[in-house]
Amino acid sequence: MEPILLKNINTPDSHKVDVYLKNNGYQALASALKMQPDGVIQMVKDSGLRGRGGAGFSTGLKWSFIPKDPTIPKYLCCNADEGEPGTFKDRVIIEKDPHQLIEGMIITCYAIGAKTAYIYIRGEFAFGTKRLEQAIKEAYEKGYLGKNILGSNFDCDIHIHRGFGAYICGEETALLESIEGLRGRPRIKPPFPAIAGLYAKPTVINNVETLSCISHIVNKGPKWFSSIGPEKSPGPKLFGVSGHVNKPGMYELPMGTTAREIIYNHAGGIRNGKKLKAFIPGGVSAPMLVEKDLDTPMDFDSLAAKGTMLGSGGIIVMDETACIVKVAMRTMAFFRHESCGKCTPCREGIDWTYKVLHRLEKGEGKEGDVELLEKLCGNIFGRTFCPLGDGAVMALRGALKNFRDEFVEHVKNKGCIV
Ligand code: SF4
Repeated sequence: MEPILLKNINTPDSHKVDVYLKNNGYQALASALKMQPDGVIQMVKDSGLRGRGGAGFSTGLKWSFIPKDPTIPKYLCCNADEGEPGTFKDRVIIEKDPHQLIEGMIITCYAIGAKTAYIYIRGEFAFGTKRLEQAIKEAYEKGYLGKNILGSNFDCDIHIHRGFGAYICGEETALLESIEGLRGRPRIKPPFPAIAGLYAKPTVINNVETLSCISHIVNKGPKWFSSIGPEKSPGPKLFGVSGHVNKPGMYELPMGTTAREIIYNHAGGIRNGKKLKAFIPGGVSAPMLVEKDLDTPMDFDSLAAKGTMLGSGGIIVMDETACIVKVAMRTMAFFRHESCGKCTPCREGIDWTYKVLHRLEKGEGKEGDVELLEKLCGNIFGRTFCPLGDGAVMALRGALKNFRDEFVEHVKNKGCIV
């Protein structure tokens, strides 16, 4: 497949509007503004695009939930708070082709009837913020943002809101709280953001990669998009590969490409001639898989059938030298640090799992610690306020399911033998 989202990233000055325009930039916006907003929503529904932020929900369907009443203000929030360990796809679009995102956002605003959009960007993405600020300024100068865009009578403004590096602010309702100036903690659902989101008004929250697909769908049509990859999860997908591979990096491939092809054909295989031990398919929340799973198509449904998830598409590869107990300990250290503390099973339970894993790793594990970890997982999963708690448990359960013996050995051998 020829690159679609990454097509222009190696062009000199790919972030500038003049280069974007030379590559047919903002043509999709001109076309969309000649359509009825419902027609744009239908187009995105027909394309089969599913959200690339992790949940995989139908993008067009999400947009269609927004009330049509023109007297109610509506908002679009772009989730650019890319914080899942192993994930670095949105950053590439933001830094190298920000107009692709901005064009997708303006079209989305038009489709849902929003005049104001926010980009909630991770605080650490200082360079990406600068690039977006420049790109938004250029878009205003060229008349793609502001009043009466391209003579259509449609007005749209985009604002950037920088986060401060809290992982939980990638959760859509915590993100809304943060934009409103409150502490970034998840809200109870329902009501869902489509009904009461930002400032209690109907709001769509979409990921950077999702919004970047929009101009391509408008330009080339929903049939073209749905012809790429599997019928139920179509389109191009950005896979970020990191860990023990020869060529870590970002690869744009059809959704449904197998993990084997991504790791061995594109990322150059396992480094130093070592064997694969495990791989995490979609950021650390996604339960890890092992060699026998390499031929699993990397799409939402195939990975769900394997008990894991596509998540953000950030693939972390581990060779035979990796200690899975240490991997689990570091993963739980991350979730422990990022838990917002609102609910007890997440706040206390994840901390407890970390302490057990830490003593296993130090060679101070006790008989019954593995069972204790399993019990803790059972007491956290499904009992937390937002998906962070479940994500942490899924990661730990994935390690325990595939490498339980390694945990037991840590107790018997008083530490790691890998
Ligand atoms: Fe906060 Fe964790 Fe509860 Fe989510 S699950 S609300 S992150 S304490």
